[in-house]
Amino acid sequence: MNYNAWFAAHDNPDERYPLTEVIYYSSSGGLLDVEHDMTALRQRSPDEWKQLFDRRWMRTDWPYGSGVWGKKELVCPVVDDENIVSMFEGGTNLFWAERLGQDLGVEDFWIKLCGNSHTGSFKDLGMTVLISIVRQMIANGKPIRAVACASTGDTSAALAGYGAAAGIPTMVFLPRGKVSTAQLVQPIAHGALVLALDTDFDGCMRIVREVTADETIYLANSLNSLRIEGQKTVGIEIAQQFDWTVPDWIIIPGGNLGNTAALGKGLLMMYELGMITRLPRIVCAQARNANPLYRSFCTGFKHYEPIVARPTAASAIQIGDPVSVHRAIRVLKRFNGLVEEASEQELADAAARADRTGLYTCPHTGVALAVAIKLINQGTIQKSDRVVIISTAHGLKFTRFKVEYHEGTLRDVISAHANPPVEIPATMDAVRRVLDERVPHGAEVRKLQ
Ligand SMILES: *Cc1c(COP(=O)(O)O)cnc(C)c1O
Repeated sequence: MNYNAWFAAHDNPDERYPLTEVIYYSSSGGLLDVEHDMTALRQRSPDEWKQLFDRRWMRTDWPYGSGVWGKKELVCPVVDDENIVSMFEGGTNLFWAERLGQDLGVEDFWIKLCGNSHTGSFKDLGMTVLISIVRQMIANGKPIRAVACASTGDTSAALAGYGAAAGIPTMVFLPRGKVSTAQLVQPIAHGALVLALDTDFDGCMRIVREVTADETIYLANSLNSLRIEGQKTVGIEIAQQFDWTVPDWIIIPGGNLGNTAALGKGLLMMYELGMITRLPRIVCAQARNANPLYRSFCTGFKHYEPIVARPTAASAIQIGDPVSVHRAIRVLKRFNGLVEEASEQELADAAARADRTGLYTCPHTGVALAVAIKLINQGTIQKSDRVVIISTAHGLKFTRFKVEYHEGTLRDVISAHANPPVEIPATMDAVRRVLDERVPHGAEVRKLQ
């Protein structure tokens, strides 16, 4: 069977371009989306697709063991296997957060740990697709000199990692002083050309759009919908991990809003192919300091206006002018979705509470958790509902956020769950005093279970 996909203009389905063409906008200036030949995909029954995907899941049969390329037909059928640049992304753990769920008052509470991935965030899912297409273009003789992106940290890490794996030069534009040390050092280590600009993410985005007007510098931001194709596997994986059923709620942190759009796109594609028979409700969680979508939601999506985002510990979503806002609004309307916001205090406390139950959450996951707490306390999410939180990055990338929380120095936050180290002399007496004071007795421990 020949599967096919192409770029299509949102406002004019007849306007199509091959995925290996260097193009990001339609003739009317709108974004392009990837469309698939659904007639060809429907030739396989829903059960046949499920069996195929289950057979490939987490095996070493290259490249199909990758969570993304195991669904190649639904993601990017036009790339030749020999051009695929994969580091076995996807297939991340869907974790039953039993103690955290109990703490929050819901029984069926799950975390999709997308940060347990090659470069430590979900951005790998999209980048493997984009870099594979670039490798195909280069193999076809396209004169590409480098791939470039503006980033709040994780996109640049993924771009640099996948570029390095493919031997393709990369350039990243970062807002100076606004990304974590771990995020900054990843592209440096991978040999990317790192440009730190005195501006915010939105300012970097404006510059990179100008730089990539030159066709030899390819644009890797998520306005390039190849990224969305890879990222949409997150929803497909969640269904697969629940034996091809969907939860009641999926809560996802949103900044540039490509991932919200991608989550919806993957689920809708499965729905259209008959692989699932209902849709979950999607909640987009924003930081209060960067909440243009939340403000629009409060008007019933009648009005939308970009804002200037203020600093937030959830630095990867400190975005005031999200590129995929209209894609995300379409998804939220289709999924009977909600948008909620979280303050710095709420996101930091939610992350700390989760860490106390054995998770190790990044601040963006903290935003999603804080929003879950609000919706549970309001009764919008019910006790018996199945809830999945999309955890977008590994907590280890955000050491400073954790350190400052436990030191009590995090901006605009009073650290209710701080657990600073106890500094004492190196004597048994001093240790015994702390033991008596801080370590519970056996009977008390049994009560904690
Ligand atoms: C990129 C990113 C987000 C936001 O995703 P968008 O597609 O920009 O909405 C959230 N969390 C982390 C850790 C990210 O890297």
